[in-house]
Amino acid sequence: MKKNPLNIRRPIDFVIVGLMVIVTGCIIIFLFSINPLDFQKTNAKKSDIHMKKNHSAYPGIQIISEISNESNTPYAIHYPQTENKIFNDDVRHFVTNTKNTYLTLMKQTKHTGELNISFETFPYREHYYSFVLTTTISEANKQSTSTKTYLYNSKTGKNVSLSELLNNDDANLATLSKHVRSELTKNPSLKDHLLREQFHQLTQPLWENFQQFAIKDDALLIFFDENIIASKEIGSVTLPVSLSFINPILASEFQIEMQNMPTVSSTSQHTSTNVKRVALTFDDGPHPDVTPRILETLKAYNAKATFFMLGNRVQYYPDIVQTVLSNGHEIGNHTWGHPILTKLSTEQILSEFNKTEQAIFEATGQYPTVFRPPYGATNDFVESQLPIESTLWTIDSLDWKHRNAQQLLNITKQTMHNDAIILMHDIHHSTADAVNPLLAYLQQQGYEFVTVSEILADQ
Ligand code: ZN
Repeated sequence: MKKNPLNIRRPIDFVIVGLMVIVTGCIIIFLFSINPLDFQKTNAKKSDIHMKKNHSAYPGIQIISEISNESNTPYAIHYPQTENKIFNDDVRHFVTNTKNTYLTLMKQTKHTGELNISFETFPYREHYYSFVLTTTISEANKQSTSTKTYLYNSKTGKNVSLSELLNNDDANLATLSKHVRSELTKNPSLKDHLLREQFHQLTQPLWENFQQFAIKDDALLIFFDENIIASKEIGSVTLPVSLSFINPILASEFQIEMQNMPTVSSTSQHTSTNVKRVALTFDDGPHPDVTPRILETLKAYNAKATFFMLGNRVQYYPDIVQTVLSNGHEIGNHTWGHPILTKLSTEQILSEFNKTEQAIFEATGQYPTVFRPPYGATNDFVESQLPIESTLWTIDSLDWKHRNAQQLLNITKQTMHNDAIILMHDIHHSTADAVNPLLAYLQQQGYEFVTVSEILADQ
């Protein structure tokens, strides 16, 4: 007898239908169990705007995504939300403002644009999170990028400012500012692209200058938007300040046990035990006759020295400036016109400094690495205005006063010591006359002739 195949399939159908019911039930339960925000639409009329909430990899931190596929004004926005309402409102306020600015701009220009806000999270210690929001707005063929950062304390729910991070201490801010300036100046990929005026202004030790930052396991990151301190083609600049540097100036609750810090090995080749060193420094040049004479003598002894130059002389003798550098000597900034800086305003001080930086750069393609104020006249105010610390001297040869080679030699011999920085001037022939016997004497005494930076590096 043939059995009807339908009869055999009936129990199977039953199982399939049963499974379908269970699965559908699960889906319905699942849909009702998740947060209604997942289905929230920011604009009831526009079905192509979606909001979504996801858990991040960090406890208590959620990622809100808002996507719009509007043909002229599309955007993709991702931002963090925490368990703290005030913090969340703050972030949402920023996002909403950015979005509205973008929508208004597109409406005005009638261009098609695109807005993207994305973010990165950096955890620090047990309960701090840095959020770095990057906003990119494209419009026609232009694109602009900017950064907004938050440092969130998940224990208190509060946003931490840089001044809280640095213990509200102006001295710590000054240390950071100096470090940031020197690191950015030294960076080879930036050196031809720094916008000098803006760079000096926006890295001054003012709290508002360092608002965009993040702290992570090994560094404090400082963010500068594009076209702020460096020319547009460089894009935005992120400077990592190593935690081993920043740790000592952090407020205690942010500090890390020093035993855990990676030890920074000294890069100095100097062995202080058996070599005595001296830094010869020549100020107020370049001079068309005296400077080349001194360069010849230095070459004969294979000696390196430092020349603190005046901008208003550099502009007349760029070839000599170039020769000084190519002979391996160091070039320092000695202001433009040799004023007493302590009697000048911020604008005047910066102008004296910056014009000279620029003149030396134009002559050599490099910025000077050290600075000496005329007459050694400086104070806390002057120092706070300048990106590099002033370098003075330990022995004044008084060559400008006596204009006598023998006296220069006598004074130096009487006051000589290891790691001395000797002040001379490469604008007097008497000084050029003294350099040969001076080098002969110092060499015989076992001194090595180094630049000022080499001495400073070990102090
Ligand atoms: Zn001088």
